[in-house]
Amino acid sequence: MSGLTIKIFFHTKYVIIGASAAGINAAKTLRKLDKSSKITIISKDDAVYSRCILHKVLEGSRNLETINFVDPDFFEKNNIEWIKDADVSNIDIDKKKVLLQDNSSFKFDKLLIASGASSFIPPVKNLREAKGVYSLRNFEDVTAIQDKLKSTKRVVILGAGLVGIDALLGLMVKNIKISVVEMGDRILPLQLDKAASSIYEKLLKEKGIDVFTSVKLEEVVLNKDGFVSKAVLSNSTAIDCDMIIVAAGVRPNVNFIKDSRIKVEKGIVIDKHCKTTVDNIYAAGDVTFTAPIWPIAVKQGMTAAYNMVGINKELNDTFGMKNSMNLFNLPCVSLGNVNIADESYAVDTLEGDGVYQKIVHKDGVIYGALLVGDISYCGVLGYLIKNKVNISNIHKNIFDIDYSDFYNVEEDGQYSYQLR
Ligand SMILES: Cc1cc2nc3c(=O)[nH]c(=O)nc-3n(C[C@H](O)[C@H](O)[C@H](O)COP(=O)(O)OP(=O)(O)OC[C@H]3O[C@@H](n4cnc5c(N)ncnc54)[C@H](O)[C@@H]3O)c2cc1C
Repeated sequence: MSGLTIKIFFHTKYVIIGASAAGINAAKTLRKLDKSSKITIISKDDAVYSRCILHKVLEGSRNLETINFVDPDFFEKNNIEWIKDADVSNIDIDKKKVLLQDNSSFKFDKLLIASGASSFIPPVKNLREAKGVYSLRNFEDVTAIQDKLKSTKRVVILGAGLVGIDALLGLMVKNIKISVVEMGDRILPLQLDKAASSIYEKLLKEKGIDVFTSVKLEEVVLNKDGFVSKAVLSNSTAIDCDMIIVAAGVRPNVNFIKDSRIKVEKGIVIDKHCKTTVDNIYAAGDVTFTAPIWPIAVKQGMTAAYNMVGINKELNDTFGMKNSMNLFNLPCVSLGNVNIADESYAVDTLEGDGVYQKIVHKDGVIYGALLVGDISYCGVLGYLIKNKVNISNIHKNIFDIDYSDFYNVEEDGQYSYQLR
């Protein structure tokens, strides 16, 4: 035997469906961990961009280039093959192949499904077939809205959650009449309580925006050309309009999953390793419907990548209830659950001078916090909620708790923090 050592490299074929928060971050992590294997991303998108700031494109302050969240040479530099403008139609689990609408296919050893979600258009009379109805999910939606805006004077936004409010912000700079219709009893029903949303609704009304809450869209009246002309609400109010933007929630993109071995409930079911119910197939981001927000998609994409290369990594942090906004220059942070109805929870509020704050707690643990106007201490509150830190032994006003309440002075004079 000679002293020659022969190294055999096993190249893995990684395929990722989706080129957004989850898919791109998974690919980046895969390349960091595995320098030589083949990575292919397949996406309908033909550009990489952040959906979170699409409203900036709508208002005209950004474009496709300035909402791109990767470097121009990202794919080249990381040696990643990108099949863009491509529609996945099926996954052959046994042959380990991803099939596209154009009949081409891609073999994989490990697959990540990061196909995100699409806007949901509710089954309201005439809404799905009407011309002049848009959603705000993809870059193409923005360009279509901008095109129609040239002949639009009145817009109805259906849904006053985060996406509806984004649409509103994007349109407010235009010279058009805007009405917002929300079936909940307040705007931003998941993020705000009644008191906080009243503050923002007042600001909206001052800007000439009509806000309708606790009502549903019942019917869309069309003109002779099939375009929307009125939105008729469940309380019989008829709003004249030339455009409707639907922001009534999303549904996961799972239509290409036809084999029931990949279990789908509200979204694709995954475990703590972001693995689906089929070996070697992972899922991450909005398609899993865990918490349809950007940071969770990123964390899941990265976790999946570690496990795809064989490094055991668990994701236990799916804390998605954190929102910060600066609507009309009035800052707001909403953390955890701010609308707990159960009377076993205690609720402390503080109001005055442009400020509204609320903390929901039980047995020394804070479950939710809403800070409007003054968002000091939101960092420490976020930590306390996420980690369920017990604050029973801190004897001071709950609104004044800060990081200093969690350090001790050691014998040698050094500070040590209880919070990590
Ligand atoms: C207007 C708006 C505002 C938002 N604001 C915020 C915010 O402020 N904060 C926050 O945390 N989150 C926000 N979000 C949510 C955030 O954008 C999503 O959580 C995030 O984009 C999810 O990333 P993802 O990678 O899972 O999927 P997506 O971003 O949905 O991307 C899915 C990818 O899969 C591809 N794909 C889908 N189907 C197929 C198919 N059949 N074949 C091939 N490719 C396919 C798509 O082309 C795309 O590349 C906002 C979303 C919108 C729409």
